[in-house]
Amino acid sequence: MTIVLTGGCGFIGSHQAVALLEAGHDVVLVDDLSNARESVVDRIAEIAGRRPEFHATDVRDTEALTKVLAASGCDSIIHFAGLKHVSESMERAIDYLDVNLAGLTSVLKAADTTGVRRLVFSSSGSIYGPAERVPIPETAPVNPTNPYSRSKALCEQVLAQVCAVDPSWSVMSLRYFNPAGAHPSGLIGEDPTHLISNLVPVIMETVNGAFDSVPIFGTDFDTDDGTAVRDYIHVMDVVEAHAAALDVVKTTTGFEALNIGRGEGVSVRQLITAAGDVLDRPIPTVEHPRRTGDVAALAADTTRSKKRLGIHDYRGVDTIFRDAWRFRAGRTT
Ligand code: UDP
Repeated sequence: MTIVLTGGCGFIGSHQAVALLEAGHDVVLVDDLSNARESVVDRIAEIAGRRPEFHATDVRDTEALTKVLAASGCDSIIHFAGLKHVSESMERAIDYLDVNLAGLTSVLKAADTTGVRRLVFSSSGSIYGPAERVPIPETAPVNPTNPYSRSKALCEQVLAQVCAVDPSWSVMSLRYFNPAGAHPSGLIGEDPTHLISNLVPVIMETVNGAFDSVPIFGTDFDTDDGTAVRDYIHVMDVVEAHAAALDVVKTTTGFEALNIGRGEGVSVRQLITAAGDVLDRPIPTVEHPRRTGDVAALAADTTRSKKRLGIHDYRGVDTIFRDAWRFRAGRTT
């Protein structure tokens, strides 16, 4: 099978490329390198023993993307490309809507022109907003509290609509909670070039000495220790979920959304403590006010996704930190 990965040089995309190449598929990466390095293509080839095709293309360039899709003869697309920071989206709302929403419609146009009808989409568990109960099932209301989450919720509506009017489409939207960690080889990992703002990379930079301390954004949430609770899932588990999702879209039609988390809520303080324990060193922290747009607690009800995707087990937070640190410690920049 040939699979096109938009955002294929990014955090999840690069790990996905390795897994698909190792499974014998052909992989085409499309990435505008706005938050990734082209050198990741070499790393992917080094791990997988095979080089993916790479195109430095913005997904909003529909003409260029259409050419890539046509030449690839692909069966399916995984659309990872997009902007992903809650905090940044509060300052750049229009950019977030443009890149994420116009990016998706461009992918849909190019797919439509070239006859591709299978898509796996990177959505977010943050679209639920302040949920009535946690863990959150897929049936919970969608109530985004920031432009990033809003853009993902709107993308899901677009995809559901496309599937409703054209039953030849098959779309699986994966609502990620908090992907983290790295490939066990230590060769690829979370390596943003534009903004380091997600908690695990910030912890890594602090352990590494590049940052003085980890800011804790909010200590007055309605949670056990007052800090925000999230559901951290190892990137390799996320990648396995996508591989299973690609199998599902081959045999079904219509739109479906599934949660991708571990189902276990971990607070910011608990996560920093776990990192300190695994890496055996103190991690300095500084308390800050809440970030606007953040909610108190998000964790996935994984009942449905485990059943649909045949997932049995997940790597733990200790593996997330061991792998993330192997990558960070081995990086030279
Ligand atoms: N967070 C924090 N300090 C940081 C980065 C994040 O306290 O340096 C908190 C953030 O407010 C949120 C959680 O950690 O409650 C996870 O944030 P992240 O940006 O990693 O992912 P999000 O859940 O916002 O997509």
